[in-house]
Amino acid sequence: MRLAHLSVILFCALITISCSRKTTTTLDQSSASERTKFDAQQKSLLLSGSASDPMRLFLTTNESDSLLLRQRAAEVIPNPSDPLLNACIDRLLTTVQDSMSLGVGIAAPQVGILKRIIWVQRFDKEGFPFEVYLNPVIKQYTKKKQNCMEGCLSIPDKQAETKVRAYAILLEYDTREGEHITEMVEDFTAVIFQHEIDHLDGKLFIDLLEE
Ligand SMILES: [Zn+2]
Repeated sequence: MRLAHLSVILFCALITISCSRKTTTTLDQSSASERTKFDAQQKSLLLSGSASDPMRLFLTTNESDSLLLRQRAAEVIPNPSDPLLNACIDRLLTTVQDSMSLGVGIAAPQVGILKRIIWVQRFDKEGFPFEVYLNPVIKQYTKKKQNCMEGCLSIPDKQAETKVRAYAILLEYDTREGEHITEMVEDFTAVIFQHEIDHLDGKLFIDLLEE
C-alpha cells in the first residue's frame, strides 16, 4: 500500500516535470513565431475573399490607412504550405494586376498587412513577369542615380519625378520556397524594388521629392 502510494507520487512528479518541460518549449516556440505569424486582424483581412479577389488598397487619403502605411513591416518565414502566407501572396498579385490598379509593384502594407512581402514586375526579364520576394533587403546601392517618374497605388492622383533612386542595387531576398537569393538589379526595375522595399519601412516616394 505504501509502495503503491509512493509510486503514484513519483508518477505524478514525473508527469509534472514532463508537462512543465513541454509547456516551456511550446511557450518559447510560440513567442518566437508570434512575431512572424499573421495576427487575427491580418487573418480576417486575408480570408475575406478568395485568391482571385483583389484586396482593398490602403490609401494616404484615409487617416487610419495612412497610419498603417507609415509603420515598419515584420519579416515572414517562407513556408509553401502556410495557407495564410499563400493567401497573402496570391491576393497581393490579384490586387496589383486588377484593372482598377494595374501597378508595376505592390507591397503587403498597401493592403493592410504589415509583412515583408512584395511583388515586382520584372521589366528586365523577357515577357515582363511579376515575381514575389519575401524579406527583401538592399545590401548595396550604386552611387550613380537615375531620374524616374513615380506613382503609387496608395497615393491617388499623384505622379512626380524622383531624382535620388540608385541606378543599380544589390538585393537579397527569400523565395516562397525558402531559398535565399542574392541578385543585382538595374535600371527601371531597380526603382520598383527601391519603391516597394521603402513601403516595408513605412516610407513613401513623396518623401523623396524636393518640393
Ligand atoms: Zn507605392
